[in-house]
Amino acid sequence: MYQAVIGVEVHFELSTETKLFCRCKNSFGEDENTLCCPVCLGLPGAIPVINKRAVEYALKAGLALGCRVNSPNRFDRKSYFYPDMPNEYQTTQAFIPICVNGCVEFEVDGKIKSVGIHEIHLEDDAGKLIHSDGGTRIDYNRAGVPLIEIVTEPGLYSADETVAFLEELRLRMSYLGISDCKMQEGSMRVDVNLSVHKPDEPLGTRTEIKNLNSFRAVANAIKNETERQIKVIENGGVIEQETRRFDDTKGVSTVMRSKETREDYRFFPEPNLPPMYIPVNKIDETRSNLPEFAGDRQRRLCADYGISLADAKIITSDRLIADYFEAVASLCDQREAANRIVRDILQKQNETKIHVTQSCLTAEKLAEIIGIFMSGRISRRTSRQLTDVAFCEPIDIIEYVEKKGLFQIVDEQVISAAIESILCENSSVVDDYKNGKTAAFSYLVGETMKRLKGQASPEIVNKMLGLMLKSNKNL
Ligand SMILES: [Zn+2]
Repeated sequence: MYQAVIGVEVHFELSTETKLFCRCKNSFGEDENTLCCPVCLGLPGAIPVINKRAVEYALKAGLALGCRVNSPNRFDRKSYFYPDMPNEYQTTQAFIPICVNGCVEFEVDGKIKSVGIHEIHLEDDAGKLIHSDGGTRIDYNRAGVPLIEIVTEPGLYSADETVAFLEELRLRMSYLGISDCKMQEGSMRVDVNLSVHKPDEPLGTRTEIKNLNSFRAVANAIKNETERQIKVIENGGVIEQETRRFDDTKGVSTVMRSKETREDYRFFPEPNLPPMYIPVNKIDETRSNLPEFAGDRQRRLCADYGISLADAKIITSDRLIADYFEAVASLCDQREAANRIVRDILQKQNETKIHVTQSCLTAEKLAEIIGIFMSGRISRRTSRQLTDVAFCEPIDIIEYVEKKGLFQIVDEQVISAAIESILCENSSVVDDYKNGKTAAFSYLVGETMKRLKGQASPEIVNKMLGLMLKSNKNL
């Protein structure tokens, strides 16, 4: 029986205002080559200056993953020639990375597992090649954008475990607010290292799989590569150390290049950047300001607000939604708040592609809608309609409900008067009801609702009609 042994290298683009070594704007989707300067174009004589914010972000990431911080740490040049890299070397941390020796716990099928973090280093991104029929263009806007690369130990043993770890990692980075973490836009990129062996034998030769742009692709690539390696070994072959590219639509991987050895990159210390010293008080301060992460927050939301774990998981999968929920829940019925957010608001976000925190529906307004609904003055349906409208337009809730005549009649005297007259006018239906025709009850509810122009609370009409029929046997 073979066992797969997996490690991942995950790049996150840091969402700093400016690039890692210059003051060019760090922004996605701008016109080609409009965010460049002599530093990020690698022109002779241009001197890099480290972006303090990027270092702070890397520090946050390291402490959130339980790492030790290296002070000093240092940058090195990794030389290779590729047209999207203007310097002809990448500035990275090959020998003394900023953070090392971390550990992350994550949940798989209700069980807690953990994996070691080998290191986190800071480095700059390359530009982008744009291939079209007319040829290839190079866009250097991304050149010099700050990245952190998080490297795990080979301590993951299945596709499910790897994806669960990656989900936890993405959640932590997004809670820290240091990256957009969008795989489809490339702000989170995953490479998988995988080998297979029999548990009583030494580790096998590993291959690296690149080009994975979704968690689904990661899972498929792991399954595919595990099977491929086992088949090669079973047929008497040898696994080559190589980099492979996975095509998720075809479900196959192909060789991209045979693996370069470390020597090929001719690493040496970057002469233009001094070693970085990180003061102990800065580390302590960063650690004490780490946010409450999703797992802890789930447990707290369940305990403090009495919501289900399933709802708490959905709510905490986005820190801003969790903040929004707590703001709403502090102002109205807490379970109803969870219910509305999980069922209505997230759907509305998907439809409109607008995050609720960017919408017109403030926490106060949602709480107001829930409050009026809980008091029975509007129906559930009206409250949904209100949420819909208030999401897109800055309406005054009460004014809108009044203007549209959406308030329900909840006055029991008004309702009982209407029921009484309906019962008098429909004595034969009342007789049917007494003789066991249940459909007669719905008819009487319908007539009462009609009399009250559909504005009565159906719950109250039902309740009172039942009571009145019972108490008034001789009607
Ligand atoms: Zn620049």
